[in-house]
Amino acid sequence: MELTLYNSLHREKNVFTPMNPKRVTMYNCGPTVYSYAHIGNARAAVVADILFRVLRHIYGEDHVVYARNITDVDDKIIAAAKEQGVPISEITKKYAKIYQDDLAALNCLPPTTEPKATEHIGGMIALIETLIKDGYAYESDGHVFFDVSKYDEYGKLSGNTLDALKKGDRVGEGEVARKKRAADFVLWKPELDGVGWDAPFGKGRPGWHIECSAMAKSELGETIDIHCGGVDLKFPHHENEIAQSNCAHGKPMANYWVHNEFLNMAKRDGSSDKMSKSLGNVVLIRDLLEEWDGEVIRLALLKAHYRSELVWSEELLKESKAQLDGWYREIKKYRDVEFEPLAYNHPIFNDLNTIESLVIFNDFDFLTGAAKQTANLLGLLQKKPEEWFRGKGKAGGLTDAEIDELIAERSTARTDKNWARSDEIRDIFKAENIVLEDSKDGTTWRRG
Ligand code: AMP
Ligand code: ZN
Repeated sequence: MELTLYNSLHREKNVFTPMNPKRVTMYNCGPTVYSYAHIGNARAAVVADILFRVLRHIYGEDHVVYARNITDVDDKIIAAAKEQGVPISEITKKYAKIYQDDLAALNCLPPTTEPKATEHIGGMIALIETLIKDGYAYESDGHVFFDVSKYDEYGKLSGNTLDALKKGDRVGEGEVARKKRAADFVLWKPELDGVGWDAPFGKGRPGWHIECSAMAKSELGETIDIHCGGVDLKFPHHENEIAQSNCAHGKPMANYWVHNEFLNMAKRDGSSDKMSKSLGNVVLIRDLLEEWDGEVIRLALLKAHYRSELVWSEELLKESKAQLDGWYREIKKYRDVEFEPLAYNHPIFNDLNTIESLVIFNDFDFLTGAAKQTANLLGLLQKKPEEWFRGKGKAGGLTDAEIDELIAERSTARTDKNWARSDEIRDIFKAENIVLEDSKDGTTWRRG
């Protein structure tokens, strides 16, 4: 089975060949945990999850190692902790758990490993020491900077040239004064509000980029097969990861770079903006899960190829819900279908073409195991139809257990010919929009 992937580094689609098919490695830049994740973040996680599922399908579940880090030290986290008067770990633990739960609700498999930045400070310090020793980095007033002029290939991934970089600078004034040139980036900075670790270059905390280089090395190795993330990370984050890792190890950081496009919010004038906290146009995964099943949100996220922008709307959710209802009705007819190996030319193996993969369902014959296998690769249709049609209980409405109890009571009432109670229960269900389906095997129910 052959997987082709668009490699952002070479700007072309290549056949994916792992270094070792018994241990295929992928790294995905995870969240900075100081607030709730939005569905733009979810898109990046779902794309990586599909890739993980496809790799597991091809190479075997035990032969793929997926690391998704947690950035649990960062200026925004430190600021939030200071404001709330709590240690940073209180904030990071809370939001890391929320992130994991949100993604689990979207049927994302847990990554093989979830390294935390604060547990890899030693590895970061060691990398920085190597970079200083080999002349790629320099110390300046409690900071350590990477000297981009020492790395010839700097800018290769993002297409930025050093000249262009001189014009724009993305760091604070203070750092600019300490750097040799605008494009140099920080590897280590002094302690902030009591958050710092001892290091040969002074007590301090890591820059964001070095965190991923150290965690990828420690969890996966000096060269990994696939590195993923959103296109916004190409520059400067991934460019800097490449520079640090390549210079420290003398070999490529990753052989394939896979970047997902943005999830954008539609605007009234017909244009759209990237969903981001700084623009204040975010829709939180957590809020959507109040109203929609995780699979509905996941399907909505798969409605554009990962390298195309996805314009988010309520319509997309409604359409996804209707489609899933239809597909679950089909599955109800065909149970216990055996898996068939996927056809060699399945669209998912062509640069993760989810759009064409979804078409397979439209004309679906659930008697074909290939459709079921496709559902597993897409992480959709993972529930039992009965469970799906029960839907999500609304706050204040009857719980699943209460409904089951009332059904049992209705059955007893009928046996006892207590028609008054039986009618009463029927009316309760009607008011709550719960539909009962009686059959010879008993009564099932769903939220209408
Ligand atoms: P952040 O917490 O901003 O570092 O983002 C975590 C992941 O979500 C990264 O892979 C980002 O590239 C990705 N991401 C952030 N915003 C969006 C967006 N609007 N659309 C798609 N991916 C995004
Ligand atoms: Zn990263």
